[in-house]
Amino acid sequence: MLDSKFKIVFLIGFLVGSVIRRLGTRRYRRGQARKERKLLLDTLLVWFAATGLLVVPLLYLFTAWLDFANYGLPTWAGWLGAPVFTAALWLLWKSHADLALNWSPTLEIREEHTLVTGGVYRHIRHPMYAAHWLWGIAQVLLLQNWIAGPALLAVFVPLCLVRVPREEQMMLERFGEEYRQYMNRTGRMLPRLRR
Ligand code: SAH
Repeated sequence: MLDSKFKIVFLIGFLVGSVIRRLGTRRYRRGQARKERKLLLDTLLVWFAATGLLVVPLLYLFTAWLDFANYGLPTWAGWLGAPVFTAALWLLWKSHADLALNWSPTLEIREEHTLVTGGVYRHIRHPMYAAHWLWGIAQVLLLQNWIAGPALLAVFVPLCLVRVPREEQMMLERFGEEYRQYMNRTGRMLPRLRR
């Protein structure tokens, strides 16, 4: 139940994140034709990820069903969740803004797909996935429960393991040398220290 300040902080971040994602999805639906490239395993993992991102946290916030698995962190660790969640939301918003119509929920290439290498993509290739890692860490700090806390990280690991290599292969096939050079000067989730 909504009985702690950390849960309320999480709920606010969750709602802001849902709005950012909703705006990105609306733009995607209105966008131009796509060359379908969907992989069944990837689509299944996106649905699986929704349990850790949406279903389990909401169950924890609005019912007492998972309360038997609560844990307690020092107060400072709970508060640390707020700036980590804020960073996640900023990165989610910025990567949606930079990727614009090239965004898709599963692996796809558009008819008029362009390679984005500016904005936050100038430094890392997967800022949107990095935003979800940060969201997952904030969830561990703010939802102090062995099931709801690590739920996002638990579902996001397999999604990233399956998706990132396939996504990069797909981008290499579409953009060739341009993407290869882009890979050489950027990190996957963290900026490269040396060029
Ligand atoms: N992995 C990226 C994008 C996630 S959205 C991130 O974490 O920010 C997934 C879609 O984005 C993929 O299907 C691919 O078509 C597209 N995409 C990924 N990187 C891109 C880039 N640098 N420029 C344009 N489109 C990209």
